[in-house]
Amino acid sequence: MILKLLIFAVVAVVIYKFFGGKLPTIGKSADEKKLDEDTLVECETCSTYVTVKESFIVSGKYYCSKECTP
Ligand SMILES: [Zn+2]
Repeated sequence: MILKLLIFAVVAVVIYKFFGGKLPTIGKSADEKKLDEDTLVECETCSTYVTVKESFIVSGKYYCSKECTP
């Protein structure tokens, strides 16, 4: 029984890292309104649509890449 729990915990951590590892680290985004990771948002600079997961959030606005951030 305990072994099963351990395996489950390891799998959970692997899944968490798989999905969480790609998130861009943005220091002050904690207070931003939370959207679903796959929601499409428009880049403020070039109007490209990217998922929230892939976007860069600066001052509450979304950008498709670092090149577009102010
Ligand atoms: Zn852009």
